[in-house]
Amino acid sequence: MSSSSSLPLQTLKIGIVGFGTFGQFLAKTMIKQGHTTRATSRTDYSQLCHQLDVPFFRDVIPFLEADNDVILICTSILSLSEVLNSMPLRRLKRHTLFVDVLSVKEHPRNVLLQVLPENMDVLCTHPMFGPESGKNGWKDLPLVYEKVRVRNETRCSSFLHIFESEGCRMVEMSCEEHDKVAARSQFLSHSIGRILAEMGIESTSMNTKSFETLVKLKESATNDSFDLFSGLFIHNRFAQQELMNLEQSFEKVKQRLLKKMSEQQSLSSV
Ligand code: NAP
Repeated sequence: MSSSSSLPLQTLKIGIVGFGTFGQFLAKTMIKQGHTTRATSRTDYSQLCHQLDVPFFRDVIPFLEADNDVILICTSILSLSEVLNSMPLRRLKRHTLFVDVLSVKEHPRNVLLQVLPENMDVLCTHPMFGPESGKNGWKDLPLVYEKVRVRNETRCSSFLHIFESEGCRMVEMSCEEHDKVAARSQFLSHSIGRILAEMGIESTSMNTKSFETLVKLKESATNDSFDLFSGLFIHNRFAQQELMNLEQSFEKVKQRLLKKMSEQQSLSSV
């Protein structure tokens, strides 16, 4: 079902907090669609922003006062609390929709509800793709979201429409459910990718299709920052259990192999 239903859509003024890899990636599509973007970040991105025609604010106060319809949080999972707590959010001049795109969902929901004035709307999202998987378009890629506190439906639908109009699969889901499923899917694939990187696996001249999949998994996991990976673990309360499951399953498979080997050895010794 369309998340924008029959509500009118508006062109948005979107202030981006955290203009690293993912913030820049999202901004390009928002600009292409005719929305206005501006950015602030720890690093000075003035030059890059100049090329993109995106106003860059070194100082967060004028950024907050810059008449944003939406403030889009694209900082790392680990820095979220520090970044939000360092912003004088009481300086916001108008009711604003806060959206986050963090790869965990309960944590930003809790932090946003805790630090934001009550009159600010909150939409938690997780685009299940990145600059690599989304480089040829976003068609059929999932956008998971929960409308945590939304009073201005038109503004929220206009924001969701950015993804809908690119062909994303819109998946409405609670933050808790997201984290449960993501621990057993995204965190698991990142962990296995990191383990493969530790092992130093490389493409060979005799790759099977399955091994090619593993090489790709290793590359995609290590393309993301270690901050992102550790955030998936530290700030998703379901991740620790999945890491233990992975360890126990590895041990079970190893024990089955060793048992079979000793059976074979005793057979060949008679
Ligand atoms: P990331 O390493 O998770 O985050 C980088 C961003 O965090 C940069 O904007 C960086 O600011 C900021 N940052 C890091 N530490 C900071 C600190 N101590 N104080 C202030 N800012 C800090 O990499 P990312 O790929 O750009 O991801 C950004 C967010 O999008 C993350 O929450 C991630 O979970 C989410 N996300 C990423 C993807 C993806 O494929 N990459 C997909 C979906 C969602 P500076 O650049 O100014 O240093």
